[in-house]
Amino acid sequence: MIEKALRSLRAIVRENVPLSGRTTLRIGGPARFFVEVHDVDALAALLIASRAEGLPVLALGKGSNLLVPDAGFPGVVFALAGDFLATRIEPPDVVAGGGVSLMSLAIATQKAGLSGLENLSGIPSSLGAAVRINAGSYGSEIFEVLVAVDLVSTRGERRTVPASEIPHGYRWTALSGTDDVVSGVALRLFPKPAEQIAARIEEVTAKRKGALPKQPNAGSIFKNPPGLFAGKLLEECGLKGRRIGGAEISPVHANVIVNLGGATAADVKRLMEEMKRAVKNRFGIELQPEIRIVTENPQ
Ligand SMILES: Cc1cc2nc3c(=O)[nH]c(=O)nc-3n(C[C@H](O)[C@H](O)[C@H](O)COP(=O)(O)OP(=O)(O)OC[C@H]3O[C@@H](n4cnc5c(N)ncnc54)[C@H](O)[C@@H]3O)c2cc1C
Repeated sequence: MIEKALRSLRAIVRENVPLSGRTTLRIGGPARFFVEVHDVDALAALLIASRAEGLPVLALGKGSNLLVPDAGFPGVVFALAGDFLATRIEPPDVVAGGGVSLMSLAIATQKAGLSGLENLSGIPSSLGAAVRINAGSYGSEIFEVLVAVDLVSTRGERRTVPASEIPHGYRWTALSGTDDVVSGVALRLFPKPAEQIAARIEEVTAKRKGALPKQPNAGSIFKNPPGLFAGKLLEECGLKGRRIGGAEISPVHANVIVNLGGATAADVKRLMEEMKRAVKNRFGIELQPEIRIVTENPQ
């Protein structure tokens, strides 16, 4: 059992933990096992044991880009804690664990007079997940300042890969299609007066406030098609305010689905299907999801 494999390691294992409280959409049934791993040995052991027992695994960061099924996840959901929350700043270099909050890191590097994360500062992301999807905003992407990534494979193998060897693009990297865990990250930032960086963080924060709804959501549901904005296409289809169950296409931003209370994953999926269909019918464009839809029966 997972508990046995982890007994001597730094990890906390619990069973049947509801995931709705751990996703920003506030949707999701229970994880069969929920494990907090505190160091890389425990992480490797967890991945090896899960594989040996045929249990699917799911890394959970801040849950801000996930649609978890109402039935929950029938395997091991794990969160990076302990060592994975450490940050070392040696200007202009920064080394941080995969569980570090992108916002906290943006503030810490601002204080150290290092520029590069201010445009990304409002993304409610863990560092590991941000790297996996190449998170970006206001014209910047995390890969612009990424030097190398520490990975742990589902076989428990550890390796460090230079960022230049990881194919990546808009909200996509070669890591997106794998279960490799980003356990640590090395960044190189740029010296700049701390006040100037702080001013940009404030500006970005203010812009974000007006742009997104206040109800629970997962940010942009679909990626922007090349040269276009998914939100604009969806708005032109007249979808703002459309509701299914407790889920609504936000009247504030047509590419955001909000949970008005009691929304299910099934409600969100049905809305997404409508959104896709409407854009396909009107513009002939196939929207691609930006959020990760966790499947009920993962392999
Ligand atoms: C209000 C709001 C605004 C947003 N704005 C933006 C924005 O401006 N730009 C943008 O790019 N995104 C944005 N997002 C989307 C989201 O914040 C990002 O995709 C973010 O990187 C997800 O981070 P997370 O830690 O919440 O990941 P989670 O949602 O927990 O996980 C997302 C995926 O990453 C995987 N994962 C988690 N941790 C790791 C790890 N250590 N190693 C490998 N894989 C891992 C998960 O298994 C899952 O597949 C927004 C979301 C919200 C709710």
